[in-house]
Amino acid sequence: MIPVAWGFGIWDLGFNIRPVRLFVLFAIVSAGCAARVDPPRAIVLEQIQARPEPRAEFVNDYEGAMASIAAIHEKDLGLPKLQGTVHLLADREAMYAVLAESGADSATAKGAADTMLAIGTHRAVYVNQASFARLNWNARLMLLSHEAAHVAQYELSAGKRSTSDQWLREGFADWVQAYVTEKMQIGTMNRDSIRSRNARFISQPGMREQLPPLAKLANFAEWVAIASSPATKLLYPYAFVATDFLIARHSMDEAVEYFRLFATSDDRLANFRQAFGEEWSAFDAALRQHISQLKSS
Ligand SMILES: [Zn+2]
Repeated sequence: MIPVAWGFGIWDLGFNIRPVRLFVLFAIVSAGCAARVDPPRAIVLEQIQARPEPRAEFVNDYEGAMASIAAIHEKDLGLPKLQGTVHLLADREAMYAVLAESGADSATAKGAADTMLAIGTHRAVYVNQASFARLNWNARLMLLSHEAAHVAQYELSAGKRSTSDQWLREGFADWVQAYVTEKMQIGTMNRDSIRSRNARFISQPGMREQLPPLAKLANFAEWVAIASSPATKLLYPYAFVATDFLIARHSMDEAVEYFRLFATSDDRLANFRQAFGEEWSAFDAALRQHISQLKSS
């Protein structure tokens, strides 16, 4: 469980439900095997010598994974150069220690360490290796690509967490993940199948009615409140559908510009207007219309 009190706002909510979704998508667990956990170490992104790999099947270490993700960020998506350190931590206790050292209270740090496989923040990704040891490289690439997108958001916003809309922060990270998934041929998914899967999920009977208004997912505390409710399973699919609709309606460049504007202004509605050229409320209305037309099968 993520404690509702967890509102200190440094860390991204990350993967409280993501492992479940990944388990559904792939056979990713080396079932029955005692997973080997490597010793803790830190990888400085700027010092990686490994070449980017074109396809997931060639990735078998963190250096290759991060080099591949970084190349897609820069060349395909117009995101800033990935900088900082990937901290490969031993286990949840080590994740807890990192969170506590960063100023989280103990309940918050425990809640996050218990639920997150990885965290992306300013110039840093923290990986729980004990959890990652049970995942194959396809799953690791997906998780790392999501967290790397959060690192990019911080970079664009000059290192600040910023007041950018939480649904868009998470939706954007999943959108980047979907892009990397298709580009690197991770499993059998592509962006179309991911889009359809998420759209079908949130428009199933009984689900669409539970979708909170987008305005209730703007800040971190609101997001955490829904994450602690029965609607938690809808959060990431909903954020993806909303972000995908936004990027299709405008562009990836405009989404990147949106995060960049927070380097100098915390006015989220003005930043939205400036980046996308439409009012947040107009987009919200268009999204409602879009979602009302989604088919559940
Ligand atoms: Zn995230």
